[in-house]
Amino acid sequence: MDQKIAEIGSQLQKEFEAVKSAEELEQLRIKYMGRKGVVNDLVKSIPTLPVEQRKTAGQLINKLKNDINGKLNNKKPAEESVTTKKKGAGLFDVTLPGKSIPLGNKHPLVKTLDEIKEIFGKLGFEVEYGREIELEYYNFDALNIPANHASRVDFDTFYISDKALLRSQTSTVQIRTMEKRKPPIRIIAPGKVFRPDTVDARHSFMFHQMEGLIVDETVNFGDLKAVLHLFAKAYFGSDIKMRFRPSFFPFTEPSAEVDISCSICKGKGCSVCSYSGWVEILGAGMVDPNVFKAVGYDEEKYTGFAFGMGVERITMLKYGINDVRLFFENDIRFLSQFK
Ligand SMILES: [Zn+2]
Repeated sequence: MDQKIAEIGSQLQKEFEAVKSAEELEQLRIKYMGRKGVVNDLVKSIPTLPVEQRKTAGQLINKLKNDINGKLNNKKPAEESVTTKKKGAGLFDVTLPGKSIPLGNKHPLVKTLDEIKEIFGKLGFEVEYGREIELEYYNFDALNIPANHASRVDFDTFYISDKALLRSQTSTVQIRTMEKRKPPIRIIAPGKVFRPDTVDARHSFMFHQMEGLIVDETVNFGDLKAVLHLFAKAYFGSDIKMRFRPSFFPFTEPSAEVDISCSICKGKGCSVCSYSGWVEILGAGMVDPNVFKAVGYDEEKYTGFAFGMGVERITMLKYGINDVRLFFENDIRFLSQFK
């Protein structure tokens, strides 16, 4: 046995010296270290030896093994570079973990818009998109905000010409949709709106709104409350509470501003909710009969409700974001948190 191992040792020394390529080295590895290789055969033959020789044989085989491994490792880098030069391909270790490629993720506002569409989609709402450049008529007149009406002052607006403007609200889509379709109508209309506001932590000259509108023969305020409750619980969580405060909008009557229990402090009071435990998330109401008149609907026959919410606002409330500018600065450190 000792002699046999010594012979193998000198034989392999010669073979290693003769190696010229990575392939040859690999063949040697298989020949000596493979599952059916020389070393394994030796190991298998140990039980056939007389008991007193087995220990020494084991030690010699181990030594041989280390020797071969050492040779394999020493030879590798040199061979690798030779092969790479020759054939353009080197040895590589297929067991190494792969490099992870950084993946992008949805912008938080896109994520919110997708969630909104999914929630309302389950309630049977279709998605409508209006135009970002609108006529004054759709942004104001048809929504019961006539020229010289005091409430028009509340809607600062970018005018492009006498009659054309960048829409300051997504309510324009209500009119566009009702003009081209007959009831029943059940839509949401997400999109960009524009107002000449000075940019700060709470204002941006461009932001996103999501309008909702239902028109049918028996729609009432209870339906409005039910739909908004379902939405708030689906988006903010089932423990959220909701309250309606009377308000005024030109295109709805009666109108309400809708608050939810603060999602940051769970109603206990924090700086986001001004320590009141409530935060406003949207405005809503029953469609004003004058709006139906503008689109030629029979206001005696149909009723409906509408609501509008700020997409940035509900995203900020959900994730505890305190500055609207973060959405538009494209800082990867911020954006990559929304997987
Ligand atoms: Zn709070």
